[in-house]
Order: sequence, then structure tokens, then C-alpha cells
Amino acid sequence: MKLVDTHCHLDNEQFDLDRLEVINKIKEKLEFCVNIGYDLKSSEESLKLAKEYDFIYAVIGIHPIDIAQYNDTLEKQLEEMAKDSNVVAIGEIGLDYHWMTEPKEVQEERFRKQLELARRVNKPVVIHTRDAMEDTVRILKEYPDLNGVIHCYPGSIETAKVLIDRFYLGIGGTLTFKNAKKTVEVVKGIPLDRIVIETDSPYLTPIPFRGKRNEPIYVEHIAQKIATIKELTLEEVVRITTENAKKLYRIG
Ligand SMILES: [Zn+2]
Repeated sequence: MKLVDTHCHLDNEQFDLDRLEVINKIKEKLEFCVNIGYDLKSSEESLKLAKEYDFIYAVIGIHPIDIAQYNDTLEKQLEEMAKDSNVVAIGEIGLDYHWMTEPKEVQEERFRKQLELARRVNKPVVIHTRDAMEDTVRILKEYPDLNGVIHCYPGSIETAKVLIDRFYLGIGGTLTFKNAKKTVEVVKGIPLDRIVIETDSPYLTPIPFRGKRNEPIYVEHIAQKIATIKELTLEEVVRITTENAKKLYRIG
């Protein structure tokens, strides 16, 4: 069994020069990867990639930073696309109080609309939350039938224990950084069967490649770090996190 990258952005322009090469490495080294949309264009690109390659799946949705473009027409387009079997979840959606391109109330309203969309198409959700954990938890509590993943989990161990009822926690390259104390504590404190591995490539490159462009096959370095923290073999981490990724996205 091989690893999975549960969150990447292969449509990003940073892959324009060697996308095929990057995709070939994924085919060789990973079980599969999941390409995540953040606006309409990237959602369409995600679906296109997923239709072209059987080891790539698509997630579609509008990121809180890009939420200004959200309207009824766009929602209908997303909903049509979401019915495709290559689309495994709605995301990344959520709240971002760090960049705040739209006021909190607007972000919340459109976050809720996309949670309802996920409910209608019966798919899990990929949640982005930055400096907004309290509101994110409050809103998600009102959708007890939805499950999914908290992408690049930024919260405390206490909040993690509440969320893992219904959500996997996405752990990425930041776990390998020197200042990752909080994330290390989360990985230590929650069972491995609630963790999925992600790169968020081309962003958040793990050590030893920090400063360079990230790519999906670097999940290996995150898995290795999880194995060290949890005192498990790399094989165990691969097996369990890959099973988690399949359950999360209802694959296989
Ligand atoms: Zn992302």
C-alpha cells in the first residue's frame, strides 16, 4: 500500500512547466491524490484532471478568500459539477478571518450555503479555517449529518477532541517545522485513525524541502514525522492513513 495526498492544487500555475512530470511521480509513488478547488476556475480544472487520470479525484467549492464571486448562478454550476462521480467532496470552504476579503457575516452565509449544497449532493466537506475556529465549530455543530476533513488543522488538542467525532484532521508539512509544537501535541493526542495526510502543494513545503515548491509525493516526509511522534513504523502510518483517506472521500 502507498500513501495518499488528500489535499493538493495541481492546477496551480507553479506546476505549469512540469505538471505532467509531477503527475507521473504521483502515479508511481502514491495510491491517489485529491485536487482541491478554491474558486470556479480551479474547481473546473480539478474536475478536468480527475476525468483525465484515474488516480486523481476532485473536490470543488469556493474558498472564503474567493467568496466574493459566489452567487446563485455559480451555486447551480457547482451543484451540477458536484454530481459527477469524480467529485468526492465540497471544498475548500469555510472561514478566513486572517485575510478577511469579505466581512464575517458574508463568509458565514456563503459557508452555510455550501454546507447545504454538500448535504443536497450527499458528499463530505473539506473545511478551511483560519483564525476562526470558534465560529467554524459553532456552524459545523448545526450540520450534524455532515462529515469530512478540517484541512491543515490549526487548532488546539481540546478542539481536536471535539471535532474528531465527525471530522478527520488534515496534517501537512507544517508538522515538520521547528515551531510545530501545537500540531505535534495534536498528532500525539488523537488516534491515528482520525488523521489524514496532505501537502497543500504547491504551498507549505515540508522539511527538508522548505523554501522550494511543494509537491504531492512529499507526503512521505509528513508520514515519517507522524511515525516518529506516534512511535509507529512507517508502514503502519501508510496503511492506516490511506484507509482513512479512502473512508473520508468514500473511495473504493
Ligand atoms: Zn488548499
